Amino acid sequence: MRQPVFFNTLGRRLEPLEPLVPGQVRIYTCGPTVYDRAHIGNLRTFLFEDLLNRSLRFMGYEVTQVMNLTDVDDRTIQRSQDTGKSLDEITVPVTEAFFSDLDALAIQRADHYPKATEHIAEMIALIERLIAAGYAYESGGSIFFRIAEDDDYGRLSGFDLGQVRQGERVVSDNYDKEDVRDFVLWKAAKPGEPSWESPWGAGRPGWHIECSAMSMKYLGESFDIHCGGVDNIFPHHENEIAQSESATGKPFVRTWIHAEHLIVDGQKMSKSLGNFYTLGDLIEQGADPRAIRYLMLSVHYRDKLNFTLEALEAANGALKRLDEMRFRLAHTGASPGESRLVASVEKMLEAFETALAHDLNVSESLAALFGLVREVNTAIDGGAVVEGDREHVMTALARVDEVLGVLDPEAWRTEAESEGLADDNIDALVAEREQARADRQWGRADEIRDQLQGAGIVLEDARDGTRWKRQ
Ligand SMILES: [Zn+2]
Repeated sequence: MRQPVFFNTLGRRLEPLEPLVPGQVRIYTCGPTVYDRAHIGNLRTFLFEDLLNRSLRFMGYEVTQVMNLTDVDDRTIQRSQDTGKSLDEITVPVTEAFFSDLDALAIQRADHYPKATEHIAEMIALIERLIAAGYAYESGGSIFFRIAEDDDYGRLSGFDLGQVRQGERVVSDNYDKEDVRDFVLWKAAKPGEPSWESPWGAGRPGWHIECSAMSMKYLGESFDIHCGGVDNIFPHHENEIAQSESATGKPFVRTWIHAEHLIVDGQKMSKSLGNFYTLGDLIEQGADPRAIRYLMLSVHYRDKLNFTLEALEAANGALKRLDEMRFRLAHTGASPGESRLVASVEKMLEAFETALAHDLNVSESLAALFGLVREVNTAIDGGAVVEGDREHVMTALARVDEVLGVLDPEAWRTEAESEGLADDNIDALVAEREQARADRQWGRADEIRDQLQGAGIVLEDARDGTRWKRQ
């Protein structure tokens, strides 16, 4: 089994992955706050996590992934109050929409999706441990984490507590604290807000404690990887470390991996700039979710992803090259002989995995894949496809698609599957045949005609070019 290296935010360096249980990787990924549809920036992070999980499975690891659903926090409560709806009326439909976005992008499901509202008891228990150990205190029915007790606070983000001033997010809660830097674990109930009973009276959990309690419940007090977007590093993940390690006295997480932001047309996405998109917005505008997936996967997770129409078009083009090669290979003749493609396939698979194992260097993986696509096309052009080649190539494509998730016809019901052959592919083949005729490569031209005939496409050669129709 290959040992991948990842850029660990904790320590800011590439480190080999060393799972606590060899061969098994336990991953916690901060999930959505289900008060509104996810935007494509959120989805970029979830796609990066999908790539990580799939890559680890590809390398032979057993992966357990937990993703929480934040269904009570300031934003869900605010939305509930603004609309006059109950918390459930807000969070249930948004949660459903979230899962349909995951499906549309072929993101594999996590093993557990714990909801914050169903784990209040675990959060209370964790807070009680922190109070007992002197790391937390009660004030006016709320509970705060005592940052002065935590010597290594700031080691994930490199945040210098000496620099914290009133008004920053870490001190933005309007409660009485011993120290402005302390953060809230439990908020005393306010009139009109949902609340739960606790040893300190009615209240609700703070956002940070939700993730500590739920991750440790499902993955244990120490686990392998914790992911999120870069905006989670501070204060959210810093506070998770503080809470978890102060309560247990054990290292919380070995490897922290964070995905960079998505920007649109070079600018930060925002509603006021009019460049704020959900997946539904893009699909309505005609974008193919398969191309969106490909585009988001193809940019390294530590680079900002600049989402543009041109980039989406390029993603479509790359997928088309894959589809065309598959189609051509499926319909080309094979002669007996010794295969030259077998070695190319092996080389591609090796390079594909090596690149993924190096901090998910997916562009190198894709370069290896498209190198094979070129070789296969050359073999088809030269009539050099031999028996067995097709199976080797198709098996390798299925293998890399365990990671990429863009080729499986079950996941992407395209025209090609529903009607036998997509118009675009036919157009491409017809154009290739015309070129072959112009080049006086009659054999190749006939081969394409036979291929198309086999797929139920009839060609009509006219003076102004070739037309085609389905039989
Ligand atoms: Zn979280």
